[in-house]
Amino acid sequence: MDNLISIFKDKKLKLTPQRIAVYKYLKSTVAHPSAEAIYNAIHDEYPTMSLATVYKTLKTLVEVGLVQELNVGENNFRYDANTDAHPHIQCIKCGKVDDIFDLNLENLNKDAEQNSKYTVLSSQVYFYGVCPDCNNRD
Ligand SMILES: [Zn+2]
Ligand SMILES: [Zn+2]
Repeated sequence: MDNLISIFKDKKLKLTPQRIAVYKYLKSTVAHPSAEAIYNAIHDEYPTMSLATVYKTLKTLVEVGLVQELNVGENNFRYDANTDAHPHIQCIKCGKVDDIFDLNLENLNKDAEQNSKYTVLSSQVYFYGVCPDCNNRD
């Protein structure tokens, strides 16, 4: 919690119960939940928090850079409290989103830079596939 307080202070964010609840939940999961999933997960503990508040809170957290918003297509947004650049993979059957670590994006960024003559600052890499659970179900 101390950590959270100093993080919020750093970003000049007022520490509201809603922001703490949403951020703490996102920190506790690697499931990349949608706003609805976050709402459902914390609803028992915060019964007065509406889905609209969850959306608003997420927007603020994304704006200050505490949370990463992932657009996984068709206006389907997922949220990640891990804001380091890392590739994601989504299962096309069950919709779950996982992180992929130990994948070197340096070369990809360099290649993109060479091909585009841009200075590449960051990249978002998505893979789509079928997860092991869904594979086993067939
Ligand atoms: Zn799956
Ligand atoms: Zn992630």
